[in-house]
Amino acid sequence: MITDTHVHVFPPDVIRDWEKIARKEAHFASLVRGKVHRWATVEDVVDSMNLTGIDESWIFGFAFEDQGLCRLCNDYVIDALKQHPDGLRGLAVVSPGCAGCEAELVRCRNAGMIGVGELFPQGQGVDITDPRQTWRLASLAYETGMFLLIHTAEPVGHDYPGKGNVGPKEAAMFCINHPEVSVVFAHFGGGLWQYELMPEMKRVLANAWYDTAAFPWLYSPKVLLAIDGAGVSEKFLYGSDFPILTYQRYSTLWEQAGLKGEKLEKILSGNAETLRRKTSEKVGMAPCTSPS
Ligand SMILES: [Zn+2]
Repeated sequence: MITDTHVHVFPPDVIRDWEKIARKEAHFASLVRGKVHRWATVEDVVDSMNLTGIDESWIFGFAFEDQGLCRLCNDYVIDALKQHPDGLRGLAVVSPGCAGCEAELVRCRNAGMIGVGELFPQGQGVDITDPRQTWRLASLAYETGMFLLIHTAEPVGHDYPGKGNVGPKEAAMFCINHPEVSVVFAHFGGGLWQYELMPEMKRVLANAWYDTAAFPWLYSPKVLLAIDGAGVSEKFLYGSDFPILTYQRYSTLWEQAGLKGEKLEKILSGNAETLRRKTSEKVGMAPCTSPS
């Protein structure tokens, strides 16, 4: 079983009007004008899953600054979940600083979504170290039984469009402020996982998870051995960053690192299932209604 937990999709309207949208959305503009950018619809995801043997994909739209555009993406994902209830699960995109963010999150939860993201703190103008800017999002995610997926990146190394300035330090501060919320920090958490070797940080990071998105462009396969040695491989989820990367680019990395058996199975799907189950169980899946 393979679950890809980091899959981007774009509604056809966004693909058609991207130049117009890019004039108002600076972060979106820098990403879609980047050399490696690709568009993908839900059909592209399903075709790729069939081709590469992916059983389940967690899909999400683009986290725009504009809440209306986020909603457009969520509508598209909700529709996709109805069409492919077996192979797809959905995450909601919201603009955490915008009015209507909370109602949208509740709407998406009621439509069956399991998490929120991939959020772009810098691109969306949110400082995740400032609880005044994050408490609404964090409490609502917790109350509705959704996890967060937040883009993070290495504070060192090469630059790339969309890398952003949110790394392990900022991610750790978010966990200190919101210990109850389950959070997946994308792209290896920018290296945050290493600090789980510090006893006090292990406690702080109890609800932190990490995904492998963009692995082939970031680390040598040996990083998997370091992660295993640090005892945190059960907190890692396979995520591809589709459509810019597909499963083929990852399968050789597991082999090169010599990762196989139960450990590989957990990264490829078991850990994702544990996260999803644990997060929704925390609230006992209480049905939520829109705030009046
Ligand atoms: Zn990302």
